Amino acid sequence: MDVITLLAAVLVNALLMMLALFVGVGIRSRSGLQAWQFMLLGQALGFGLLIVATRAQPQLLATLGVMALSGSAAAMVLSVGRFLSLRTPAWALLLPPLLLGAVHAVIYGDQKLATGITNLVIGLQILWGSGLLLRGAGRVRWRWLCGAAAMANALFTLGRAALVLGWPEVYPRFIAPHPLNFASLMLLNASLVLGTMGFLLAHRDAAEQALVRLASLDPLTGLLNRREWMNRAGRALGAAGGTADDATVLLMLDLDHFKLINDERGHPVGDEVLKLAGEVLRGELRASDLLGRYGGEEFCLLLRHCDPEAFSRLDARLHQALRRRCEASLGFVVDFSAGAVRVQPGETLAAAIKRADDQLYRAKHAGRGRTLCADGVL
Ligand code: GH3
Ligand code: MG
Ligand code: MG
Repeated sequence: MDVITLLAAVLVNALLMMLALFVGVGIRSRSGLQAWQFMLLGQALGFGLLIVATRAQPQLLATLGVMALSGSAAAMVLSVGRFLSLRTPAWALLLPPLLLGAVHAVIYGDQKLATGITNLVIGLQILWGSGLLLRGAGRVRWRWLCGAAAMANALFTLGRAALVLGWPEVYPRFIAPHPLNFASLMLLNASLVLGTMGFLLAHRDAAEQALVRLASLDPLTGLLNRREWMNRAGRALGAAGGTADDATVLLMLDLDHFKLINDERGHPVGDEVLKLAGEVLRGELRASDLLGRYGGEEFCLLLRHCDPEAFSRLDARLHQALRRRCEASLGFVVDFSAGAVRVQPGETLAAAIKRADDQLYRAKHAGRGRTLCADGVL
């Protein structure tokens, strides 16, 4: 087998994977997979140009070829950045291919130096991408898969750079049928396949997380929706076992005269109030508390290990914070009425909600803007 044939196989492989991604996933603008498709295209284009450069216009086509390969490495880093939601500065992505092209064109006469610098720049680019993937990869399998494939590729490319710059006499020509050339193309091919599989897994993970978010969060406030809150609260009560010293309080609150706000100031202002209420509630809670949007302008809170004094302070803070935030941001005061109960040993969530709702009803009838409690919560 000659190197050109193997190179052509890598090229076709990259194109096929790009096509498969296009058919299977389509082009999602500004997504990680879109950048990865550009990465594959860059590989195919770069190697295509390098193959043709062995027959015609070697200086121009080889320079364009290494620029495409460096651009492809930049697309790989961009892809990693998008999947990990990291900012990768545009200049840091664009500079290597542009600089490499300029330097390559100037030093083209010195083949070994040009090869060394090309491998050095591209190796460092891939090392950057693999570093981002592997740093803090934790238990995320696609990060290990893509990161390890890229790291192996980066180290091999840097090794080639070291070899051609340090020991130019033993370095084989680009198309020589040398074990080093075969090994590096095999490794490149493996890293393209593994990277594509890894990023497909990443794409699937992201889609799955988006679905879970959609199914469990309220889009307006970002709080848990009723279903998810009920699930988690039910589990929390089950885990607590309803022991007397594990003081769990259920607080149900409902904004006062909210319909009036909608009617007089418009629905968008009503939405703003709901968002502010969500922020205020979230801002006052501890990590162990469970907060959700129960219905239109009703919120539910499950407070663990909550003694009466702590509850009374929290309740006062919530009333005050909501009034202040709405006044400061919207120019009018909003308050809420609430009912609170201490969850009894063995009590179901539905029963506790019913009792809290009864207290809330009483609070409304007692003049609103207050929290009424059962079972000595206060
Ligand atoms: P009360 O003090 O007795 O609680 O009176 P209220 O007006 O707050 O109570 P009511 O239940 O009559 O009104 C609730 C209103 O909340 C009615 C509904 O149109 C509105 N609402 C429900 N969901 C949303 C939402 O997502 N955005 C907005 N802007 N309004 C909503
Ligand atoms: Mg209501
Ligand atoms: Mg209301």
